[in-house]
Amino acid sequence: MGSLTGKTALVTGGSRGIGRASAERLGREGALVAVHYGRNTAAADDVTAAIRAAGGAAFTVRAELGTSGDVETLWAEFDRQVLEHGDNAGLDILVNNAGITPRGHIEETTPEAFDEVFAVNVRAPFFLVQQGLKRLRDGGRIINVSSGATRIALTDIIAYGMTKGAIDTFTLTLAKALGHRGITVNSVAPGIIDTDMNASWLRGNDTAEQSAAELSALGRVGRPADVADVVAFLACDDSRWVTGQVIDATGGSQL
Ligand code: NAP
Repeated sequence: MGSLTGKTALVTGGSRGIGRASAERLGREGALVAVHYGRNTAAADDVTAAIRAAGGAAFTVRAELGTSGDVETLWAEFDRQVLEHGDNAGLDILVNNAGITPRGHIEETTPEAFDEVFAVNVRAPFFLVQQGLKRLRDGGRIINVSSGATRIALTDIIAYGMTKGAIDTFTLTLAKALGHRGITVNSVAPGIIDTDMNASWLRGNDTAEQSAAELSALGRVGRPADVADVVAFLACDDSRWVTGQVIDATGGSQL
């Protein structure tokens, strides 16, 4: 029996990076995991296969966030499949992880790029929660993946940092709104993690990796599992008295 046996979890952006590691960890804890993704079907299938190979249960849900009807598509597909895979309709753990990081200083950020990053990183999780509230069971968990960019001023991703500031405000306010149902809401704020999001500048570039590692008090670049383990803590009963918080998982970056 894992700590999440009998629970159902949905991880947005569960096909790669931090989302994948979180989906696999929640699966190992015994949760039935809905692995959401946008485009990369092969990657999402790979995650569900890995969860099943480890003895867990999972299914994929495709919906491209930031497009018209995105949230409705996601929930319709979730509803259809959750009944096929478990005997319980509904959800216990929602991990709002999917996100994009367009680069740009204030001078370079176009209105289109600004709107897109807010649509994917803020609008989608907001309405996913709004439309998910009737599915989320009392005593449930909402875990929002934020960023160290709300604490550290990163001028080349200014609009992105603003989206994560909005997410942290969402976390705070939602925690108060949902407390009467025993639902906790928390943010996890990663630092630089070795995922596809950073591949173009980090992987295979020793100088960049060393500079990134030096940002952390612990002297290395983060791994997806470093964040997934915090997600798992927030998903399980051990975190029952923690709500409305931003948990810094930056490895002590820029302390
Ligand atoms: P990643 O490796 O680029 O993976 C992104 C995931 O999100 C994929 O599963 C992708 O699905 C999905 N996704 C992206 N845009 C989507 C869209 N429009 N619709 C549906 N799905 C979409 O990202 P990551 O580095 O793991 O980041 C995950 C979260 O952590 C993000 O919220 C990010 O802001 C946050 N974060 C990351 C870092 C870091 O250093 N990596 C640091 C701080 C915070 P597909 O596979 O289908 O494309």
